[in-house]
Amino acid sequence: MRVTRSCICGSDLHLYHGLMPDTRVGSTFGHEFTGTVEEIGPGVQSLKVGDQVLVPFNIFCGACFFCERELYGNCHNTNPEASAVGAIYGYSHTAGGYDGGQAEFVRVPMADVGPTVIPPDIHGDDAVLLTDALPTGYQAAEMGDIQEGDTVVVFGAGPVGIFAAKSAWLMGAGRVIVVDHVDYRLEFARRYAQCEVVNFKDVPDMALHIKKMTDWLGADVCIDAVGCEASGSAMQSLAGRYMMVQAGSATALHWAINSVRKGGNVSIVGVYGPTFNAVPIGNALNKGLTLRMNQASVKRHLPRLIEHIQAGRIDPKAIITHRVPLEEVADAYHIFSSKLDDCIKTILIPPH
Ligand code: NAD
Ligand code: ZN
Repeated sequence: MRVTRSCICGSDLHLYHGLMPDTRVGSTFGHEFTGTVEEIGPGVQSLKVGDQVLVPFNIFCGACFFCERELYGNCHNTNPEASAVGAIYGYSHTAGGYDGGQAEFVRVPMADVGPTVIPPDIHGDDAVLLTDALPTGYQAAEMGDIQEGDTVVVFGAGPVGIFAAKSAWLMGAGRVIVVDHVDYRLEFARRYAQCEVVNFKDVPDMALHIKKMTDWLGADVCIDAVGCEASGSAMQSLAGRYMMVQAGSATALHWAINSVRKGGNVSIVGVYGPTFNAVPIGNALNKGLTLRMNQASVKRHLPRLIEHIQAGRIDPKAIITHRVPLEEVADAYHIFSSKLDDCIKTILIPPH
């Protein structure tokens, strides 16, 4: 495929910060991309040269036990060496070692099942957000099993959290609260997803604060759209063949478990590379919580999300703040990672 657009994702920051095991120097990052089919292999029936396609970030076979159940993020055949994670473009050898789409060209394996031809009335900027950020936010809300009128708290006002908040309304939430510490992102979330916002720098005790906001019950549903947070110096470890795995923390996950009401649901889409031994699992048990988590199964959500976009219920491309030539990718990572220049979502444009 000749890449037309690729995005930088919060997941790429885990690689960038050295939080993902088995990230090898020389691998090409990028799991959110659209492009033009340039060449097809002999096994490909469903695409032709010249098609404009969006490619879900999961690489999946479409035929195994998991794919039959639409758990494409857990496909058994494309990353057979790893017991836990399915294969993901440009996401370390832990996720299969496939090269990604922050490039001019990318090889798309299993091309009969993954790529979706972009409908003519879907804008290219919306299409690239359908490869991950929007379906992941949507699945985060779906895994929360939101009931009519529920109070939903979303941790993280990045693209995934913002789309989770927007999706929560589509699923019947009565109240949506988004938590972050970056003011411009909270302000964007407040306008775009019509939610209440909390800056965690202003809150000494998150669980207590959410309780106060909810008649002392706690939220019905909490969503972790943050994942592992880097601590320590990151890029210094980029030497030799592997990046060293850094220490990380899991604050948002603690807050999600502690802020939800008894019997509530916690939905985790934030990605955790390292193992955490201090997750408050005792609190989760005592409160009778339901915890759900997964890599999003992008393809499963596409028909419904395309319908939402066509009907004008959601405008994904509104979150794009930066459009950068691929050659400037290093600066673009720095700006996105450091939350500079009001950056929410960056699209990289290859030179052709
Ligand atoms: P992002 O980095 O743009 O956004 C994360 C936001 O969380 C930032 O705005 C940051 O300020 C905020 N934050 C940091 N610590 C926080 C805390 N303790 N409480 C509340 N907010 C906090 O990333 P994104 O692209 O929105 O992705 C969010 C997460 O979702 C990442 O972990 C990413 O890896 C993950 N992800 C998962 C899947 C999946 O399929 N499960 C897919 C895509 C992304
Ligand atoms: Zn992503």
